[in-house]
Amino acid sequence: MTIPLHDLKGLLPDQLRQLATDLGEPSYRGDQLFEWLHVHQARDLDGMTNLPARFRQVLAEAGAQMPGLELLESSASDTGKAVKFLFDLGQGGNGQGLGQVEAVLIIDGDRRTACLSSQVGCALDCKFCATAQMGFVRNLHAGQIVEQLHRLHQEAQRRGERLTNIVMMGMGEPLLNYEQVTCALRLARASDGQLQIGGRKMTVSTAGHVPGILRLSEDDLNVGLAISLNATEDETRSQIMPINRKWPIADLMAAAKTYFDRKGRRVTFEYVLMDQVTDLDADADRLAVLTSSIPCKINLIPYNELAPGLQISDRVYRRPSSARLDRFTRRLKNATRHTVTRRDSRGRDIDAACGQLHRRVTDAQSAVSATPQRA
Ligand code: SF4
Repeated sequence: MTIPLHDLKGLLPDQLRQLATDLGEPSYRGDQLFEWLHVHQARDLDGMTNLPARFRQVLAEAGAQMPGLELLESSASDTGKAVKFLFDLGQGGNGQGLGQVEAVLIIDGDRRTACLSSQVGCALDCKFCATAQMGFVRNLHAGQIVEQLHRLHQEAQRRGERLTNIVMMGMGEPLLNYEQVTCALRLARASDGQLQIGGRKMTVSTAGHVPGILRLSEDDLNVGLAISLNATEDETRSQIMPINRKWPIADLMAAAKTYFDRKGRRVTFEYVLMDQVTDLDADADRLAVLTSSIPCKINLIPYNELAPGLQISDRVYRRPSSARLDRFTRRLKNATRHTVTRRDSRGRDIDAACGQLHRRVTDAQSAVSATPQRA
């Protein structure tokens, strides 16, 4: 087995044991490495004091690297229900910046959920999403996903709390980075004594990548599945989520049903309510019909309007009025037997829709660099 060393934090326990023996050490050194990486959340080899200095040196000489994240900005929402972090991935071998990702700590009752990014940017071009405007930049390594988790874990600890849940719902489409995302979740599950977040507390959210859903349905991870549905007719959905042209609503609902049949876990449908676009009476009725044969939860999310100046497409999407939100919610609840919740955006005041913090910071940075310097 060839062990990739560019992402030490993204290696599974058996890979670390193999690495240790490949480098002439007993396999338990791999377990010690795992403990340093995932229990103590070490950020470099130097601090791994119970590993022989010779082993650390051999690791370093073999090219072992641990992806670091530099915190650029963090902001807590006024509601106290979300803390958002913007991380820089540093530079690649060619000296070019690798980009930035966002992660959010969501506070909800007893739950402390880490919302993590899977990619820098995103190729799927959803019309209401700030991340889409970046286009696809790169997939994250598993270690970079785990590192986001560790940083949020440290924030929770600083508050005297502990993380309870993980959702892959930040920047990017997780099912288009399947190997690295599932590896990161396996690592989170395996970090005995520290995070102890099992598959039942993990959710992968997809914009509707049907082959990825079917693959996940056969994976032993047994995570929750959330599908960002957001429209009830193909025409509207294809307009706002171009992935629908490839995998239309009927295929998506069939995949959701398969996921339930194989995993026995209710699927969550996320439905963003946008004024006059997805919040019509007919949408509520169709949503009830579409989901009628799939054991599921339906999570209504009033659209999180972008800050002024961050318009991201020709069309300006608006949050529906409270009256329209209430009307849609009532109508859907009357028409379905499923649980319907409405999540009033927890981080509305901190750019918590994916990609918004990054957009605001980079826009501000370009504004600064474009400002002529005074002599
Ligand atoms: S909403 Fe999600 S899938 Fe769609 S473009 Fe944004 S990050 Fe990508």
